Amino acid sequence: MSLRPRPALPGVPPEIQSRMEAAGLRRTLATRAVLGLFLARPAGGLTHAQALALLTARGLDINRVTLYRLLDRLAGCGVLQRQADDARTWRFSLALPASRAVEEGALPRFECDACHRHFELTEAGESTRVATHDLLAALARLGHHGERVDVSIHGTCSGCAEPAA
Ligand SMILES: [Zn+2]
Repeated sequence: MSLRPRPALPGVPPEIQSRMEAAGLRRTLATRAVLGLFLARPAGGLTHAQALALLTARGLDINRVTLYRLLDRLAGCGVLQRQADDARTWRFSLALPASRAVEEGALPRFECDACHRHFELTEAGESTRVATHDLLAALARLGHHGERVDVSIHGTCSGCAEPAA
């Protein structure tokens, strides 16, 4: 048993590496090549067939099944996202920046327009995440790449809303 630290993948964002590690994905040459493809085109999506063609063009000897499995695993651990295009073909694209923003993203903020105090809605959990995810997914369907969603609400805080009488 070796205690040697596994080498990090150069050029791969640490959050992607930690996801892969958490999912037990080994850092094989194939994994690295596949990630390289998606990191190189952050706004685009690739089908299985396109990814295979690009990898083969780069001289990587990978068979279809291995690639399919790898793409599925990367999608499964949230590194890639998968969407069906108009032809009902799965397209893969890098998911992490967006999904990270959803998970760690700013909590919805409320600003009182009267006293301009800011409140964070710490209890707006799951439903906000779902809504945020929907927004990013809608953008992605249009081919855009959303990085971050800020939810801000304006109104009157409880202090200012108290009846003046
Ligand atoms: Zn106020």
